Order: sequence, then C-alpha cells, then structure tokens
Amino acid sequence: VEVDVDIEIVCLSGLESRHCGWRLEAGLDDVPAVVDVLDRIWERDPGKPVVLVSTGLSGFWRLHRELAELGRNPFLVEATGIPETMLAGLSLDELIEYHAGFLVATLGDRRRAVKRRPPVTRRQLLRSLFIVPPEYVIPPRLRGRCPGEACPLGALDGERLDEQRCKGCLACLHRCPGVEVPAWTGVTGLAYAYEWVETRGLDGVLFICRRLLGRLDGEAVEASPARLLPFHVPCVGWLVPWLLQEIAGLGVYLHVYAGGEACSSCQLWGLVSSHVSELPATVSTELAEASMHAYTGYTRPRVGLDAVLERLSRAASRAAGGAAPRA
Ligand code: SF4
Repeated sequence: VEVDVDIEIVCLSGLESRHCGWRLEAGLDDVPAVVDVLDRIWERDPGKPVVLVSTGLSGFWRLHRELAELGRNPFLVEATGIPETMLAGLSLDELIEYHAGFLVATLGDRRRAVKRRPPVTRRQLLRSLFIVPPEYVIPPRLRGRCPGEACPLGALDGERLDEQRCKGCLACLHRCPGVEVPAWTGVTGLAYAYEWVETRGLDGVLFICRRLLGRLDGEAVEASPARLLPFHVPCVGWLVPWLLQEIAGLGVYLHVYAGGEACSSCQLWGLVSSHVSELPATVSTELAEASMHAYTGYTRPRVGLDAVLERLSRAASRAAGGAAPRA
C-alpha cells in the first residue's frame, strides 16, 4: 500500500520514519504542541488528513476533544505508535502505511462529521456563562425510511434525521435496514483490514474506539504472542455482525475492546452495549484472552482479497434485501 501524497505524517516524541513529513520532540500528550502543528498543516491545506506517530497514545482522546472544541474535525486525525508495534508485530513504517491507507479508505465518512452542540437542560441554560463545547459526530446516512423507535434518542423520524440530537452511535443501523452501512466498518474497511491480516500473516483484528486508544500504552503487550491488527472505530456500535461473521468465518480472530469500567463513563455505551455483546467476536478489555489465538495466521487457509470482497458484498447485499451494497 502506498502512502497517499495527500496524507500528512507527523512524527512525535523524536520518532523517526522514512514517512515523516513533520517532526516534533513533544509527545502526543502535549496537546497544545500537537494542535499547533495541525493548525500549521491545515493553514496551508485545510482538511488534510494526518497520521500522528508517537511513543504513546494516551493523549489521543484529549486531542480529539480539544480539536472539536476548537471547531476542527478531529476525525481527520489518526494516531499510531510504539504500543501498536507491540500489538501487531508490525514495524512503525508498516503501521504508518496501514493507517494512511485506512484514512484514505474512510475519508468519505470522516468528512461527513458535523459539529454538534450537545443539548443542555433549562437549568444549565439559566446558569450564566455556562458554555457547552461542541463535539463532532458522524451521522448515519439514510437510504430509506426508519421509524422513530430505531433511534433511542429520538433523532430519527421517517426519512428525516435531526443532526443536533444524533450522537453518531449507529444503534439505528441494527434496527432499521434504511440506515446505510458506513465504508469505515462496511465492505471497504473490513476488506482493507483483511488484506493486511492476510499479507502479514497476522492472527486477528482488535477493534477499539478512539476514546480508549490510550489504554493500549499499558495493555497492548498482553495480547502477545498473538499479533492483532489495530482497527480504530468512532464507536464499537458501528461494527456490523453479518459482515464480521464473514471475516471470522475465514479463521481470523476478532476482538472488540469494550465493556466494564473502560466504557462505564461513555454516554454511547448504554445505547450500543446489547448489540455489541452479540457480535461474533470476543468482547473484553482483557487482551490476554487474545494470546491463545496466536499463530492462527500461519495455519489459516489462504483466501485472496477478491474472494473476500465477494463474500462481504454478498453478505451486505443479503442484509440489504438484495439491494446493491455500498462498496
Ligand atoms: S441511533 Fe445513534 S446514530 Fe442513529 S440516529 Fe440515533 S443517535 Fe444518531
């Protein structure tokens, strides 16, 4: 996979890679310094996607929120680094190429993110100087009608979506066939990840939401010796069971990092937890559970990308009632 020329690679913490376009001594947890670099990049080229490369990932969610507060789309930024080299057994260069390619594959979804001001109660409004920072959500795309009950927050009404109410959890995707599967967790994203798993002989995929990425700093090594490809999602509620089933059926181990205390403070978890618990994957924050799946990458039957794309597209088509799936 070639790094697209339109992606900027920023190497932090003094890390070196042949892909680095910008270099900074500060780490990802130095949020003001990282925002400053991003602003300089976006001043020249607004909306340019960026991969940050750092020794640790623990500042990523703070950065995401800070960018949203400043009115910059945080979904244009991905991060990777040393914890993911331990998780996947891939080099830093390979991980940069993987994330850069993933940014390209999912750019359409990322650019659809809308700025949303969370609703406040009347009492909060009455309190003077109460400021509610904006957040960015990627809303669902509707290709048909959905009943109001499809959204637990009442953001859906027939063919209309109230973007200011929507939290981008995609709970509606599992309740209404009129909601389109995003490229991120649909055929495009999964086929892209499968190709990496297959060509590098990896054991599986770790799906993890952007909010929890920093936890990999201390925990990535626990999956060892299994080698897992990191797959960052806006919310684990975006994962689609009938598509994951196709990948799991090929002998790829799937692990969803979610649940317990890690998700207890997440507003979206209550909306998607029942659906996530039914995914054809291990759902756990114990990465040690992945370790017993080591070496499956060597024993799995080889299935080429074309055949996998066909399987995924057929599954998407079946779920859509025969309609042409989105690639
Ligand atoms: S279920 Fe979630 S993503 Fe779907 S409309 Fe409601 S808030 Fe938005």
